[in-house]
Amino acid sequence: MKSIPDYFGSKVFDNRVMKARLSPDVYNSLKQTIQQGKKLDSGLADSVASAMKDWAVENGATHFTHWFQPLTGITAEKHDSFIAPAPDGRVIMDFSGKELIKGEPDASSFPSGGLRATFEARGYTAWDPTSYAFIKGKTLCIPTAFCSYGGEALDKKTPLLRSMEALNKQALRILRLFGNDKVMRVVPSVGPEQEYFLVDREMYEKRKDLIYAGRTLFGAKPPKGQEMDDHYFGAIKPRVAAYMEDLNEELWKLGIFAKTEHNEVAPAQHELAPIYTTSNIATDQNQLTMEIMQKVAARHGLVCLLHEKPFAGVNGSGKHNNWSLSTDSGANLLSPGDTPYENAQFLLFLCAVIQAVDDYQGLLRASVATAGNDHRLGANEAPPAVVSMFLGDELTGVLEAIESDKPYPGTEKQKIKLGVDSLPRFIRDNTDRNRTSPFAFTGNKFEFRMLGSSNSIACANIMLNTAVAESLKIYADILEGASDFKTALHELIRTVITDHKRIIFNGNGYDDSWIEEATDKRGLLNLRTTPDAMEELLKKKNMEMLISHGVYSERELRSRYEIMLENYCKTVCIEAQTMSDMARKQILPAIERYLADVADAAARKKALDAGISCAYEKRLAKKLATMVDSIDERTDALDGAIAKLRTLSNVTEEANYIRDEILLKMSELREVADEAEIISAESYWPFPSYGDLLFGVN
Ligand code: ADP
Ligand code: MG
Repeated sequence: MKSIPDYFGSKVFDNRVMKARLSPDVYNSLKQTIQQGKKLDSGLADSVASAMKDWAVENGATHFTHWFQPLTGITAEKHDSFIAPAPDGRVIMDFSGKELIKGEPDASSFPSGGLRATFEARGYTAWDPTSYAFIKGKTLCIPTAFCSYGGEALDKKTPLLRSMEALNKQALRILRLFGNDKVMRVVPSVGPEQEYFLVDREMYEKRKDLIYAGRTLFGAKPPKGQEMDDHYFGAIKPRVAAYMEDLNEELWKLGIFAKTEHNEVAPAQHELAPIYTTSNIATDQNQLTMEIMQKVAARHGLVCLLHEKPFAGVNGSGKHNNWSLSTDSGANLLSPGDTPYENAQFLLFLCAVIQAVDDYQGLLRASVATAGNDHRLGANEAPPAVVSMFLGDELTGVLEAIESDKPYPGTEKQKIKLGVDSLPRFIRDNTDRNRTSPFAFTGNKFEFRMLGSSNSIACANIMLNTAVAESLKIYADILEGASDFKTALHELIRTVITDHKRIIFNGNGYDDSWIEEATDKRGLLNLRTTPDAMEELLKKKNMEMLISHGVYSERELRSRYEIMLENYCKTVCIEAQTMSDMARKQILPAIERYLADVADAAARKKALDAGISCAYEKRLAKKLATMVDSIDERTDALDGAIAKLRTLSNVTEEANYIRDEILLKMSELREVADEAEIISAESYWPFPSYGDLLFGVN
């Protein structure tokens, strides 16, 4: 067996391969593009393409594809083979620079939110040299951006790259103010922790809700759920261990640093965390990871559920977006330094994040809003729908001391003067992990915990990068014009703390009293559902900020609003129709069968004529008959609501109707069906129970 270092990255056209296979000139030029964002010399494309093709063919590839991330949130690919006719009638393997740089998929069925209507129906894909090409199956996948002919982004990668650019520009301005002339590039680093469920494939295939909706729409609570906390970090079962082993190997071949794996809180729930990388690569790799997780599961007779809430009553799955800023010289800008001077710079970057999260809490919330994630956020688990920040006691103490001009609690009567040598050394390792906070500082990075497990992490990072770029821009504007840098810096930090401390909350985010305090006293937003959150994309302040940094155009934002809401509507509609289908075709007939057998049993008992009681059968039959009626009525009501939905004329109305009516009708139907499951004999129930699904993989 090959050792990990031997096969790690063996399917990636990474730096090692480039260095070995490109001429030094081409290699150096490409490296500059990758590391410093310099424009690629198009004359080099042919050499890169040819080296890439040779490498890919040697590694078994026959096709190539421009791999991109349309607004559906998943990845798309259209395969072309390398074959080209040779003059002598034979075939050669060919791949040109032109084919590497630009593709024109017939992509008219991808959502564009009207962006393409007045332009060409086709979009084009453009090579992103900052994310490595890789081989999947027999195909060389080239990460690309996807745009309309008018240059408008039809994907998630383009705005992400733009947001990284905006952040780099403003962060460099700040570093220069601190006298740092060496750093040439600042890049957001991201490590996304991915949660997921594993269920047995045979059971999965018996449940239409899992097949069509990715989550259970019915299901009574099993006698045991997650109350014992015995699954979290528990011993990994053999079948799951075999899966993880196989998964790691696949990810490692693709150069993905899958690092930690453990069981999560809910039964059948697990987590995988990679080592962090740039936000662009982390986004590509997370998409790829989700795909490979599902593929590998199939090989093990399992299904990997990435839905945010596959099961009611046990925790849902999220994705923790660990985020920081690193420089090309390897420094982490969110790591407190050893000297007061470094700490002043750290505090300014910290302030930038605090202000960004406060000012653009609505955008951050919107960036994680989906029908699936609505079941987590604000539903008494994971983080609430209110965005707030956890800094921990020590750092909060430092900020309070600066704001009130009082001595810092950890020191002897020392007041904090930024940039002067009295600023104490503080927090190196912040181990206090407040699990309930949506946005927590964890020592040298922030952890944004509101993302749903199936979300692309692109959206959250686009908003985060740009909002922080905006804070930094404001600070750079002020400080560049200041006559006395240190005084201005100190004043600036104090003002930011005063103005934005309302977003800092170190307490328990699950408490109802917090939600009340957050909304009533602090004026924070509590956007509970996707339709509520999406309005944030169209708010003037938010639009202006995103447009001013060149991350989105107004048309692009409007298109995103449409697409996200459309996606919400379609998702819930599929769920509603699936429920209706299951109720009529499976649940009602099953209860009827059981009811008939119960009635039969009563009749047979009676026929014995020995004075035997039929009270049990009668009681049970009555309950079942009442439930049958109720399920039928509620299914009718749901169908009626779906029919009404079809008469609505725009997506905003539809989304609001779904939020207020359809979801309610769905939960009413579920309620009675779940009660019926509880009193029905197991052998009659038409699909596997929660107990089967949650405890079925050993
Ligand atoms: P947790 O207790 O939340 O599981 P870990 O220490 O295991 O925290 O780290 C979780 C994730 O944070 C990993 O994916 C890791 O790569 C990532 N991470 C660590 N440092 C940074 C950083 N500077 N920037 C971005 N992500 C980081
Ligand atoms: Mg975490």
